[in-house]
Formats: sequence, C-alpha cells, structure tokens
Amino acid sequence: MSTLDTAAAIAMIHETSLRIAAAEDELSRLDAVAGDGDHGVNMSAAFRDADARIEAATPSMPAQVFLLTGRSFSEVVGGSAGALFGAFFATLAATLREDHAPGAAAFAAALDAATVRVAAVGRTTLGDKTMLDALRPAADAASACAASDTDIATLLAAMGEAARHGAEATAAMTAKAGRARYAMTGAVGTPDPGAMTVATMFGAWAEAIAIGGRS
Ligand code: ADP
Ligand code: MG
Repeated sequence: MSTLDTAAAIAMIHETSLRIAAAEDELSRLDAVAGDGDHGVNMSAAFRDADARIEAATPSMPAQVFLLTGRSFSEVVGGSAGALFGAFFATLAATLREDHAPGAAAFAAALDAATVRVAAVGRTTLGDKTMLDALRPAADAASACAASDTDIATLLAAMGEAARHGAEATAAMTAKAGRARYAMTGAVGTPDPGAMTVATMFGAWAEAIAIGGRS
C-alpha cells in the first residue's frame, strides 16, 4: 500500500479501539503507580466514542477520521491526556487537510507536526517520561521511512516498533511532567501509561494496515 486511504484510516482507529479496550486495566494499573489510575478508562472511552462517531459520519478522507477522533478526546475525556491526544489528532487532521490518499512523506510530516504540537501543549521535552517519549521516536522513524521512499505499511510497522521501544525506555525515567512528577519515586521502574497507549495505538495502526493489505 503506497498511500493511506479513508478505509485504512477507519480501520486504524477501529483496531486501536479494540486493543486499547483489551489493555484498559493494564493502562489504568500503570497510571495508579504514580497517577490517579484513570488512564485506561479514559483512553478506552475516547476510542470507543471515536469508533462510533466515525461509523455514524461515514468520512470521505483520512483527515475527517482523525478530526472525529480528536473530538472524542477533547469532548469525552477529561484530564491531561484527553487534551493532549485531542491536540495530536486535531493537528494530524489539520496537516493532512484535503489529501484523500496521503503518501509516506505527507503522513510523516503530519505525524511530526502533531508530535511538535503535543510537546508545545504539554510543555514537555524528551525524557520527561510522558507520551512524547513514544511519539517522538515514532515520528522520527516515519520521517526516516519517508526519506527512503518506503510504503505506508512499512512506515507504520517502523513507527509501531519505535514507539514500543520508546515506551519501554520510559520505565527507567523519572517523571518530570503530569501527575506522576508528584510521586515520591517518580515512577521509576514503571513505564509511562501515556507512552504505552501510544505504543499500543501505533502497533494497532500497523496491524490494521497489514490486515487490509492481505485482503
Ligand atoms: P491525568 O494525568 O489527567 O489523570 P491520564 O491519566 O489519562 O490523565 O493520562 C496520563 C498520561 O498523560 C501520562 O502517562 C503522560 O503520558 C501524559 N501526560 C500528562 N501530562 C503531560 C504533559 N504535560 N505532557 C505530555 N504528556 C503528558
Ligand atoms: Mg490519570
């Protein structure tokens, strides 16, 4: 698959909602270590809502799929992660605009813009033990793939892998943002829940495209 069409974007959010629902308890458990234990519930509610909105709206381009997803986060989920994922998806949509089938370069550029936006809204930098520690390596992997002219399926697989490594590496970090920074231990030894959500999401995106590509 050389471009990302609307059906692929819909499948990506659908697969994410299934995987986040399955990981809900684990994500909340991670958040309970240094936060308030609501992360899995928040993410699961947002993706379930996004999936329903998308099905009801029958979007005609990828940007609309991401716009609807962003609205679910901004309108359904409270807390910091709701606002940050809301900003992520809104920027993805705003950057892709009317592109009906973005290729690797356009998608990587949108992902980079959305990641920059999350850092700006959250006032975080790399190493603060947040979702940014999974988003940034994934966006960099996407840019590297786009520069070597790979297809979307390969790009998404690389993103998923980079996000997973980035999220796992947050276990060794001391939290410097979000509620976790108030915890005595800084949550050292536990990966950041928001980063794990990003890794789960990008893993789902790669899988959704791999499934679509086989059929
Ligand atoms: P809340 O912290 O409001 O309870 P959640 O539990 O849903 O919200 O989400 C927590 C996650 O949000 C953290 O694991 C972290 O990845 C992310 N997060 C929190 N604050 C920030 C921030 N300022 N910048 C980036 N990410 C953040
Ligand atoms: Mg929380």
